[in-house]
Amino acid sequence: MKTSSAQHSDSSCTFCSGKGYFQLLLGGSETCSNCQGTGKVR
Ligand SMILES: [Zn+2]
Repeated sequence: MKTSSAQHSDSSCTFCSGKGYFQLLLGGSETCSNCQGTGKVR
């Protein structure tokens, strides 16, 4: 049984929501330093 909401994902980076980068307000993006751009944490 799977739900669409993934609130408790232990392998995805919570800093960037597993995207690997941040969307900057001024435009562009910056690589997440928490997961090194991978979107996952160990
Ligand atoms: Zn990250």
